[in-house]
Amino acid sequence: MTALFGDIIFGPVRSRRLGISLGVNLLPVVSKLCNFNCIYCECGWNSAFPASRSFNSRSEVRQLLGERLHEMAAAGECPDVITFAGNGEPTTHPDFEAIIDDTITLRDEICPSAKVSVLSNATMISRPEVFRALNRVDNNILKLDSVFDDTVRILNDPASPAFSVASVIEGMRKFEGRLIVQTMFLRGEYAGHKIDNTTEKEVSAWLSALAEVRPEKVMIYTIDRDTPAENLQKIPADELQAIAARVEAFGIPVSVSV
Ligand code: SF4
Repeated sequence: MTALFGDIIFGPVRSRRLGISLGVNLLPVVSKLCNFNCIYCECGWNSAFPASRSFNSRSEVRQLLGERLHEMAAAGECPDVITFAGNGEPTTHPDFEAIIDDTITLRDEICPSAKVSVLSNATMISRPEVFRALNRVDNNILKLDSVFDDTVRILNDPASPAFSVASVIEGMRKFEGRLIVQTMFLRGEYAGHKIDNTTEKEVSAWLSALAEVRPEKVMIYTIDRDTPAENLQKIPADELQAIAARVEAFGIPVSVSV
């Protein structure tokens, strides 16, 4: 079963990729709110949540995050990372930039060793305020599951008919290396389509995009929990390692999570 994050501040959890992570969910706690509808989304399909779709307010996020960081610092247990994730896409929040500034201020005051990470689907990076905010965080982690629009339409199902991977890649280039690319590899079937972003055509085009974007790091992973689409398969560790080796050949560090 897929599941929502039930709080604005959640965890800390031990993240496969980030260490001890205190989560911040800017999206509704009772509903998913995302401009993608990925077939592997751990929160489920967008259509399962038709109502109650409002963002958590900046003031509430600041207050709750401050309280939790104070508690953790008092216990000598500051998190390794404060991670913006949760029930949808954090950069769609209208106050995203201000919330990032609040978070950096709280981090500097209370848990200065914690990194600030944002897990984003990269759809909003062309907006100047989102671009500025992501430039200020420690880990700007942006999704790129395929460089083919047809694949992304099935795998990630962007809400915008105008979405194009080319514009995402162009936006990624503008960070001049201050980004981490995250890619979910999987295969299976969905709605009569075969899906596999590990084919040579997919991987070699994805590698060319990475060579262009020059991220500071790449995170590759595969399915870990229940997915809303049923016929999806994990990619075995040795296959992910083989893909990782091809990224490393460009001099870009890679982490592999299985
Ligand atoms: S971008 Fe993230 S939150 Fe949105 S549908 Fe995809 S996996 Fe879910």
